[in-house]
Amino acid sequence: MLAALSKAAFSMLAGSATLKKIASRYGMRSSGSFARRFIAGETVEEAIEAARVVERAGLLVTLDLLGESVASTAGAGEAAQAYLSMIGKIEASGVGRNISLKLTQLGLDIDRATTIDNLRRILDAAAKANFFVRIDMESSAYTEATLATFETVWNIGYRNAGVVIQSYLRRSAADVERMIALGARVRLVKGAYREPKDAAFQKKSEVDAAFVELMRRLLQHGTYPAIATHDPAMIAETRAFAAAQKLPPNAFEFQMLYGIRRDLQTQLAAQGFPMRVYVPFGKEWFPYFMRRLGERPANIGFVVRSVLGERRS
Ligand SMILES: Cc1cc2nc3c(=O)[nH]c(=O)nc-3n(C[C@H](O)[C@H](O)[C@H](O)COP(=O)(O)OP(=O)(O)OC[C@H]3O[C@@H](n4cnc5c(N)ncnc54)[C@H](O)[C@@H]3O)c2cc1C
Repeated sequence: MLAALSKAAFSMLAGSATLKKIASRYGMRSSGSFARRFIAGETVEEAIEAARVVERAGLLVTLDLLGESVASTAGAGEAAQAYLSMIGKIEASGVGRNISLKLTQLGLDIDRATTIDNLRRILDAAAKANFFVRIDMESSAYTEATLATFETVWNIGYRNAGVVIQSYLRRSAADVERMIALGARVRLVKGAYREPKDAAFQKKSEVDAAFVELMRRLLQHGTYPAIATHDPAMIAETRAFAAAQKLPPNAFEFQMLYGIRRDLQTQLAAQGFPMRVYVPFGKEWFPYFMRRLGERPANIGFVVRSVLGERRS
């Protein structure tokens, strides 16, 4: 109940232009600024530096240039161009060749053809340099369009991409089977958006039960699934099922977000599980940041302490 309320409150605040303006001015100002706990920086160079630190701790990375809800064809083209330049810089830097992106960044609010054109430009460059491209999942308004776009590029022959399935959506059991049938790589998450109850389970117990069920299907029948959660109970269920099925630790990977449960990240990696950290960066960090606050209102305490600390120094 409290969790649903806070998600609602933060998704409303995420729409506030004034708050965005204030946060953008202070959130990334210096290395100690509050948004830097969750966002690696505003430039690809800063993200690569953060990725090096993550990799030195024995972890894998996926880099995400933040952006969503792009409203013009020109804006979507610029986002695709930014991804192409990012691929070149990551390739030159030597950090892991794995990126994540959102389709509303590439034009999904405009039309499917624009989105597919932009996505194909990125997938072509990514394939040449041996990158994997994860297509993040956005709110339920985009689920079908995202999966259908993915299927289009899959059917053209692109194999260097995968999708995300959210366990809170009632439709996800069918979508998991759809992706298993294709042989596509799936990242399983609980889901980060505020959703109506006809689309999504509202109780944590139901979201968790669905997560366990989908995790088992993916571990048994999927293609190198990614189990993306910070929840120790979900991690324990995954480890127990993998052990019962006698799966080697590298049959799947765990994933977590930059700045969240760093203790668990290194612990799982030290135990031999591939652990990938999602490293977000870019100027458009505000909606992503607000989703992280909404997931755990205790994070506000952390923001307030950083702001007060900065004002004192
Ligand atoms: C690699 C990765 C990629 C993702 N991609 C997507 C995507 O494409 N689409 C999408 O909808 N969602 C995505 N998510 C977000 C996901 O849907 C959840 O909102 C988020 O992971 C929180 O859920 P949880 O599984 O960690 O469990 P929860 O039950 O929410 O949390 C379990 C525990 O994790 C810790 N924790 C969780 N969130 C936070 C936080 N913000 N700050 C501090 N501690 C926290 C706390 O200790 C908490 O008790 C992604 C998550 C990860 C890890």
